Amino acid sequence: MDITDKPGAEKPLPSGAKYPGGVQSISADVDYSLQRRMLLRDVYSGRVGTHEVCDASPYLISASRYHGEATTRRCPICRREHLWLVHYIFGEELRASAGQARSRAELAKLAKGYRHIDVYVVEVCRGCSWNHLVRRFGLGRDYPTPPVTAGTTPLASHGTPRPGRTGTKQP
Ligand SMILES: [Zn+2]
Repeated sequence: MDITDKPGAEKPLPSGAKYPGGVQSISADVDYSLQRRMLLRDVYSGRVGTHEVCDASPYLISASRYHGEATTRRCPICRREHLWLVHYIFGEELRASAGQARSRAELAKLAKGYRHIDVYVVEVCRGCSWNHLVRRFGLGRDYPTPPVTAGTTPLASHGTPRPGRTGTKQP
């Protein structure tokens, strides 16, 4: 066995230099839960008004209807509605599609068709219009295991390992 042939041996993440353009160089998975917690603390203490944080645009609300993913988490502001997650895609390869919302199923397809897409996940409440950036991550062929498809693609893990794609059904 030649270990240099191992597919995982090469570095999966591109350097920031190869991604010029308006968006700052992005590779790593970024979690915004800390910022979210700090903002909510300010809201609960009254330092920040709810009208400042419950300002989802009509586009975001409608994106949640067409492309959103339901969650079981309740809105931290009104505590009545469940939150929706909306995935926005960015990247030079996308051209006109950049900045659009996509469902998780569509993201899985995009991951195979493009090398590098930046996905921004925004949570939104349709009741009170609370919204906040949740997460940012890279998707595409440059990323060996797209995090967004991890839970949606059933892997044929038990049984004999099959060459090629895993989890695809036989016709
Ligand atoms: Zn709400």
